[in-house]
Amino acid sequence: MKITAVEPIHLRVPNVEAIPDGTLDVLVVLIHTDAGITGIGEVTSQSYVCKACFDAPRSAARRHGLTSILVGEDPLDVEGLWEKMYYETNRYGRRGAAIHAISGADIALWDIKGKAEGKPVYELLGGAHRQDVRAYASVLFGDTPEDTAKLAKEFADLGLTAAKFGWGPFGQDPDVDFAHVQAAREGLGDERDLMVDAGHAWEWEVALERAKLLEPLGIGWLEEPVGQDDRRGYAELCKRSPVPIAGGEGDVTHWDFEDLIERGVHVVQPDVAFCGGLTVCRRVSQMTQAHGRRAVPHCFSTGINLTASLHWMASVPNGDLVEYCLRPSPLMRKLVKNLPPLVDGRVPVPDGTGLGIELDEEIIREFRVNY
Ligand code: MG
Repeated sequence: MKITAVEPIHLRVPNVEAIPDGTLDVLVVLIHTDAGITGIGEVTSQSYVCKACFDAPRSAARRHGLTSILVGEDPLDVEGLWEKMYYETNRYGRRGAAIHAISGADIALWDIKGKAEGKPVYELLGGAHRQDVRAYASVLFGDTPEDTAKLAKEFADLGLTAAKFGWGPFGQDPDVDFAHVQAAREGLGDERDLMVDAGHAWEWEVALERAKLLEPLGIGWLEEPVGQDDRRGYAELCKRSPVPIAGGEGDVTHWDFEDLIERGVHVVQPDVAFCGGLTVCRRVSQMTQAHGRRAVPHCFSTGINLTASLHWMASVPNGDLVEYCLRPSPLMRKLVKNLPPLVDGRVPVPDGTGLGIELDEEIIREFRVNY
């Protein structure tokens, strides 16, 4: 089998607000083959820039566009092509947009391999440990603790067994922070898991004080308490924190995650449509298994990202948790026709071949950015 064409499709809703919402602007990647099989992938990053990473023509060695690297290759050699894409872009790649773009190609290649072999992707990644995955939803803290409690109650009413609150008014003042997390705990009830996303709020010493303050409220993890590049801060905090520390949604490649694991981070959060794809995610969860840590997908864009994350989690022994995005954007809710639903707080893993999803051509036509 040979790759005949690579089609990066930029989708964007008419009004993209400057809010932390990955469901408004995405790059879908279709990889076509001479066997009539098409693979589906997604990139959750700067779509214009990542599209250029595909479209750029061949150049001098190790600065080629991704499409020129892939066309003519055997799509079933998924990991070999990951190495080739990584190496042949390394003058402008390695970290940043090029590796984000590689994620979309890598997801599409796993989809092709599954379709060609008549297997769901989770089987290719290491087998099924579960048929559905426990979901947690994320939301910004409310403007007031009362608002936060109301949001928590709504999540509980949806049947979710875990929720994450973050950003908004959180991080400035210990009393305000405690009041919000207490309100979230009260709204969720004691039996549900509550996670807190600090959004790079502090130096590690302040983060440690907050971890101690919030610990009696039963925090599942404290996410990104320090800056993404403050690796020393992570190391100091992880040694001392009474609650698990999470991070890594901005990290890419298994080497970045190896570093976070070595620094002591308890829960690492690769985004499959950003970190380098399923090939990287599988390597990361092999490392977390070996080190007694957890990998939980960061997932906040479309049903393609969600489905890839579900297949990954289905294949990981201690992988029973996925972020489930409840934003109303049509790119999240409608792009994947058979979007995996929330059922009693869990999400079924599609059992068709490959990723097991079908895209809605109408949605693609409506939101496609034509250059
Ligand atoms: Mg986060």
